[in-house]
Amino acid sequence: MPRPLRSWLPPFCPNSSCDSHAAPGTWRFKRKGFYSRLRGPRRVQRYLCRSCHRNFSSQTFATTYWLKQPRLLRPLFHRLVGCSALRQIAREFGLTHGSVQRQSERLGRHCLLFLEELRPRGAPAEPLVLDGLRTFEHSQYWPFDLNLLVGASHYVYGFNDAELRRSGSLRPGQRAKRTALEAAHGRPPPQATRQAVEELVGRVVPPGGAVEIESDEHGAYPQAFARLSDRRIRHRTTSSKESRTPRSPLFPANLADLLLRHSSANHKRETIAFSKRRQGALYRAAIWAVWRNTMKSRSENRRDEPPGVALGLIAKRLGAKEVLAERRFPWRQELGPWLERCYFARIATRRLARCRSHTLRYAV
Ligand SMILES: [Zn+2]
Repeated sequence: MPRPLRSWLPPFCPNSSCDSHAAPGTWRFKRKGFYSRLRGPRRVQRYLCRSCHRNFSSQTFATTYWLKQPRLLRPLFHRLVGCSALRQIAREFGLTHGSVQRQSERLGRHCLLFLEELRPRGAPAEPLVLDGLRTFEHSQYWPFDLNLLVGASHYVYGFNDAELRRSGSLRPGQRAKRTALEAAHGRPPPQATRQAVEELVGRVVPPGGAVEIESDEHGAYPQAFARLSDRRIRHRTTSSKESRTPRSPLFPANLADLLLRHSSANHKRETIAFSKRRQGALYRAAIWAVWRNTMKSRSENRRDEPPGVALGLIAKRLGAKEVLAERRFPWRQELGPWLERCYFARIATRRLARCRSHTLRYAV
């Protein structure tokens, strides 16, 4: 990302354990020459923090830090919400599947922080709709719900995941395979949806806040709300069997589900692009939510403003350039336990032994 060398100054020390964060306003740094890169910006200003004596550069604050293919990030953003699969994107840009995967994980982490930074801090002023998008990771033996909390304005306030046990009508062979898989990898906790909804609503509605929530008749939702006794939650239910028209109270969530399936290759039915890890689906959902909140019109026909503009959270519609203008650092925001696990890719897929967890690196 090209930066004006003279006018731009580093706003803080990017080292999370630096003393300078304890006393804001006292931070001092000095310029320490340049280094050159093969890709733009080719000449990069280096700095030295006078508190912790660590080196960093203007690139440390760019979303393209350490990338050999920095120009890929923006088109990748559009393709990930344009229903392309990772291998299709890789073929288009002449890259390996792994390179595209790493960059999409980076976009996912960035978008998680972007979403959290933009989210209103108080209780939402509009009614919310809660719904779980049923999908799966690795194989259809490992379904999970992507729980979404969407406002009447279509703003996506947050999401999280809840593992589920494969249900529905199973043939005897499928039932035996499920038993064998559960014996080897453990069974998803039966309280997962209740716990996830409690975390999601607790994150979006602060203690003492009041909110109206519409949902279907899922039995775990009232149990989750009952545990959030320090919030005033008015819960109304509508049967999910009722017609899914714009007049339905669940319309914002139904439309979000529809858009998420329409825009994301991993949630299409009968696809080979399904998520191999739940973590990947969550990163991709973060990218989708940023696109939905800040770039996409509420109505395609009216070409009206995105939900974030309608709520006054941003002044105008954003493009990928604005969304990716500055790197976000996880330690600059207060992340709850779920967001922290998701950011650092610690959400495990039972079927796979190892997480591809992310380690925080800051300097160039
Ligand atoms: Zn420092």
